[in-house]
Amino acid sequence: MVRRPTIKPNDAIAAVRAVYDELESRPIERSCTLKTECCQFKLTGAIPYLTAGEALVAARALHASGRNKLPKRADGACPLLDPATSRCMIYESRPFGCRTHFCQGAGGPYTRREVVDLIHRLEDVNYKLGGDQARKLPGAITDMLFK
Ligand code: SF4
Repeated sequence: MVRRPTIKPNDAIAAVRAVYDELESRPIERSCTLKTECCQFKLTGAIPYLTAGEALVAARALHASGRNKLPKRADGACPLLDPATSRCMIYESRPFGCRTHFCQGAGGPYTRREVVDLIHRLEDVNYKLGGDQARKLPGAITDMLFK
């Protein structure tokens, strides 16, 4: 069953950004050093799963960068990893998983206990947007590109 959204896209974006800001403000000793190792999906064997709100934030950021589709990559890395700069194209809008679960270089994954309240807030936004399960990054963002 498809549920109708009960939240406006801009309100959903604001709610997701508030979660990201809250995460940044927490005194958990980890620091992204832009190694981008976690962006090499083929090497890590892990792909971030996004809730609908995270995908919407990422899709809007991709649009703001002048792109209207996910670039293709043949090497199995994240499609948002810029091959020219080796940097994330949407770093300030990167999904929650990119901030918390994938990077040994930044100090290792957060425990669920450290961020479970933030996960629940993202799930709440997901529900209000009519989302179902979290989805793998490429498909989740592609579906949000024109919303
Ligand atoms: S969205 Fe950005 S930070 Fe996350 S895996 Fe892709 S390139 Fe890396």
